[in-house]
Amino acid sequence: MALITKAVKGTQDILPSEVYKNQFIEQIVIDIAGKFGFKELRIPVFEHTELFQRGVGETTDVVQKEMYTFDDKGGRSITLRPEGTAGVARAFLEHGLFNEALPQKLCYVINCYRYEKPQAGRWREFQQFGVEMLGTSSPAADAEVISLANEIFAFLGIENLQLELNSIGCPECRKNYHNALREYFESKKENLCPTCLERLGKNPMRILDCKSPVCKEICEGAPAIIDYICDDCSAHFESVKKYLDVMNIDYVVNPRIVRGLDYYTRTVFEFVSTQIGAQGTVCGGGRYDGLVEELGGPHTPSLGFAMGTGRLLMLLEAQGIELPAPGACELYIAPMGENASLEAMKIVHDLRSNGISSQTDVAGRSLKAQMKYADKIGARYTMVLGDNEIEQGKANLKNMDNGEVTEVELESLAEDFMQFLIKQETEALRLSFGEDIGDVDLSALL
Ligand code: ATP
Ligand code: MG
Repeated sequence: MALITKAVKGTQDILPSEVYKNQFIEQIVIDIAGKFGFKELRIPVFEHTELFQRGVGETTDVVQKEMYTFDDKGGRSITLRPEGTAGVARAFLEHGLFNEALPQKLCYVINCYRYEKPQAGRWREFQQFGVEMLGTSSPAADAEVISLANEIFAFLGIENLQLELNSIGCPECRKNYHNALREYFESKKENLCPTCLERLGKNPMRILDCKSPVCKEICEGAPAIIDYICDDCSAHFESVKKYLDVMNIDYVVNPRIVRGLDYYTRTVFEFVSTQIGAQGTVCGGGRYDGLVEELGGPHTPSLGFAMGTGRLLMLLEAQGIELPAPGACELYIAPMGENASLEAMKIVHDLRSNGISSQTDVAGRSLKAQMKYADKIGARYTMVLGDNEIEQGKANLKNMDNGEVTEVELESLAEDFMQFLIKQETEALRLSFGEDIGDVDLSALL
């Protein structure tokens, strides 16, 4: 029985008291990406398993250990998306977006699913904001994508986030590197974890992404890819850095970054924090020049990043950055009796149509209980409505902050209340600045 009142391990509810933060992030990332020309694309939660096997790569942790895969009732092998890029690339091909203006700039906010060991900053269901730019091999694109992530962090006022950059070359320059890597790891074979032993034969670069402490230590001495990249890849990398320099975006080259997905080529990068524990990578991305072709499409050099919004929120919290909370209920109308209840419902209906958040009793409560409720929901003003008030067409608005009472006409309340709020706000500003601030239009604030 206890099972049904407990969320599945690695999943979490986002309660109403917190959800405004997620809503804010979801909104601003899409808005900021929009300024760079990225348009939102919505993709399904699940895809054919094969898409991820091909796209993400058979030898990756994600495909080997972390996918939620099942057969549907029609016998298809289905996988809950562990990431967004493969689905975006699939949609790009399926809808012939490669025939449209290139590069296609696409972005998304999605939940992803990975069967990982839950811990701080690591969940089995988590949200990512991602962008993908398909159809450009220019280093300017790499810098632009990085600058978009940078812009989001800057907008939120986040500090002390390090941009780490590397180039992992193209399949051509990787041949030599693989040989050097294999030779190195062969010499350390007896200490590698069993998974890495397997990787040694299939894809030695994956060892560099191993999380086991012993393997990590061995990796310290491994040859670095950056010393093996070809002239073209090297020129590309230098150019990316130049573009970042003109935008004054700081970075450090970290030759250890290889990223966890097989599709990456050339530029890879991570934004890393030391303030949110071991899972410090808030954003990771890079180029994947071969992915679209791998999925059966035309040669389409592309790149992107994904930002974990959960880790982003942890970082905001760690840096004491508060996101704007939504406005509380402006007016709570407390009716006494059936007539008043009808009248109150009519008034809040009109108020809401005029864009003012307002509530009234929908639980048949006593006046005392209603006032308690109004207090709990943080109503800024309350108004008691009884037969007397209805008869006279007037009622008292009470400011819940300072107890001030103002008489208002019921007939025109919906129209007047906005003006009333503006007047109150102006007055409050006048008081706090202690001078005539003139006629300020505050309607935009409400
Ligand atoms: P890590 O090294 O932390 O496992 P990754 O290389 O698997 O990350 P990506 O697949 O590139 O990460 O995903 C991009 C971003 O998504 C990460 O930088 C992180 O912010 C977030 N992320 C990845 N996996 C999880 C998870 N299980 N829970 C929460 N956020 C995650
Ligand atoms: Mg991972």
